[in-house]
Amino acid sequence: MPDYQLAIIGGGPAGLAAGLYAGRAGLKAVLTERLSPGGQVLTTDWIENYPGFPDGISGFDLVDRMAAQMRKFSTDERVFEVNSLEFEGENEILLRSPTGDTLSARAVIVATGAAPNRLGVPGEEELAGKGVSYCATCDGPFFRDQVVAVVGGGDSAVQESLFLSKIVKKIYLIHRRDELRAVKWLQERAFSNPKIEILWDSVVEKINGSEGVESVHLKNKKSGESRDLPVQGVFIFVGIHPNTGFLPETIKKDARGFVVTDEWMQTSVRGIYAAGDCRAKPLRQIVSAVCEGATAVYGVEHYLTELGL
Ligand code: NAP
Repeated sequence: MPDYQLAIIGGGPAGLAAGLYAGRAGLKAVLTERLSPGGQVLTTDWIENYPGFPDGISGFDLVDRMAAQMRKFSTDERVFEVNSLEFEGENEILLRSPTGDTLSARAVIVATGAAPNRLGVPGEEELAGKGVSYCATCDGPFFRDQVVAVVGGGDSAVQESLFLSKIVKKIYLIHRRDELRAVKWLQERAFSNPKIEILWDSVVEKINGSEGVESVHLKNKKSGESRDLPVQGVFIFVGIHPNTGFLPETIKKDARGFVVTDEWMQTSVRGIYAAGDCRAKPLRQIVSAVCEGATAVYGVEHYLTELGL
């Protein structure tokens, strides 16, 4: 007999919504997290596009409320890093931690989210935590009244630049093309923000500094010109990659490693579901993550009923 009917891996919005729905459905369920619930939302300062909060809400508060709501029901929580996942017989899935601890369940929802990509230039690794950052809400306050660079042109780069503009003196938003990828409303806010200067068609080739960041070496892709731009901090938002490396190869993924599911959120392996940013899909928002968490539980309920478990 497995420990649980359902194990939910990951405590971001998708996992917390799944935990809430599983608890309310009366499933014997557990939510596992490496540390504590939250996920990437914790690194978002202010959220204006999650329904129900007309004045906006901080990422921290939103996740805190989601966790509190889940805890009103019976879903267990365990600090348990999942290192591998394998079938033990036909209807039992075994989750294993790096230290060899195990946990078993009839069904699993993978809600492990995604992590920021590295830029992959000299100086980035050496200066990580010494001026190079992937989280503006975490590290922005260290750069009060200083000059920083933000690399990227997507929603994250623009949203985090807007957050940083409340703290720092100036932001160079460095983008490799002549058009931002971010949604229009974010673009418009960036264009009208006097602290944000966009450097178009530009790539960072190197981050310079020893004890801290001193400058970035920039190249303009159109003119071919290179120069050193003095900055004290570099915030990198050049996309994300899914936290799916621990999943077996039998679970189908797209070319970038995002898990492919059907509309019930079931993966190519029966009994294993996926929800949130780790899933292959066109829209990555908190609102879509929570919806997928709920749908996955609905799928699990049907699966367990079908098997008579
Ligand atoms: P993203 O949408 O994939 O954008 C990544 C940006 O980085 C792109 O502008 C890309 O340039 C640039 N880039 C990628 N590799 C690069 C490299 N090697 N050197 C320089 N630039 C590089 O990633 P994201 O902004 O992290 O967003 C991830 C997902 O979360 C998206 O689905 C996004 O919509 C969602 N999100 C939503 C919100 C919100 O709703 N407020 C906030 C944050 C994130 P190109 O444009 O040239 O490809």
